Amino acid sequence: MDTDTSWLADNWARLRQRVDAACREVGRDPSEVDILPVSKTFGPELIRAGVALGMRRLGENKVQEIRDKAPLLADCGIDWVMIGHLQTNKAKDVARLVSEVQSLDRLELAEALDRRLQHEGRALDVLVQVKTSPEPSKYGLPPEQLAGFLNSLRRYDSLRVRGLMTLAIHSSEPVEVRGCFRLLRELRDQAVAQGYDLTRLSMGMSGDFPLAIAEGATELRIGTAIFGKRPYPDSYYWPESPGSS
Ligand SMILES: *Cc1c(COP(=O)(O)O)cnc(C)c1O
Repeated sequence: MDTDTSWLADNWARLRQRVDAACREVGRDPSEVDILPVSKTFGPELIRAGVALGMRRLGENKVQEIRDKAPLLADCGIDWVMIGHLQTNKAKDVARLVSEVQSLDRLELAEALDRRLQHEGRALDVLVQVKTSPEPSKYGLPPEQLAGFLNSLRRYDSLRVRGLMTLAIHSSEPVEVRGCFRLLRELRDQAVAQGYDLTRLSMGMSGDFPLAIAEGATELRIGTAIFGKRPYPDSYYWPESPGSS
C-alpha cells in the first residue's frame, strides 16, 4: 500500500478550484456548493486515500458495493450515500449501512425503507430522484407526480426528505443539459412554496457540473474528475441506458 496517490490530492484540489470558479462566475458563494465524491468501482485503498484528504461522505451506486466495502473501511467513519437505482428487496441493507438515499423514486421503495428503518430504530435523510431528462432510460419520478409523491411521503416518519436529485440528459447541447437542471430547481421552488422544507439540489457530475451550479445545485456528485476513469462503462450501472458513456 505504498502506491503513490498524490494524483488524487491533485484531482481533489483542482476540482474544488474549478467548482469555486464556476460559482464565482455566476455570482454564487462557493460555500453553498458541496462535492459528494462518488467512489463506485474503486477499492478500499483508494477510498482510504480519499478519506485522508478529508472525504467523509461517499456516493455509491450499488448496495452490494457498499456491503463489500463498508466492513473493510469500518474505522474510517464514512457516511455512505446511495445514489443508484434501488431495488425494494435491498431495503434491509440500506437501513443498516447507508446514511442517506438520493434515489428515492417510488412509493413502494419508501414503504419498504420505512418498514426496515422503523425496525432498526433509525431515520434516514432522503432526496427524491426526479426524471428531468426525456431519455427513456433514466430512472426517477416523473415531474408531474412530485407534488403527490411528497404529500404521500409525509406518512413515513423515518424518511427525512431534504431535497431533490437528478441526472441530466446525456447530450453535447448545453441548453438541453441546463434545461434538466432548471426543471429540478423549479420543482424544488414550487415544493418550497407549498410549505416543504426542501433545500438541497443534488445535480451535476464530472461532465456537466458548471451548468448545474448555474442553476442552483447545492451538491455535485463527482466520480471521474476525482478518482479517474472507471474500469466499467456506465451501462453497467444504468443497465437500461445503452447509450450512456
Ligand atoms: C457515477 C455517478 C455519478 C458521477 O459520475 P461522474 O461522471 O464520474 O462524475 C453521479 N451520479 C450518479 C447517479 C452516478 O451513478
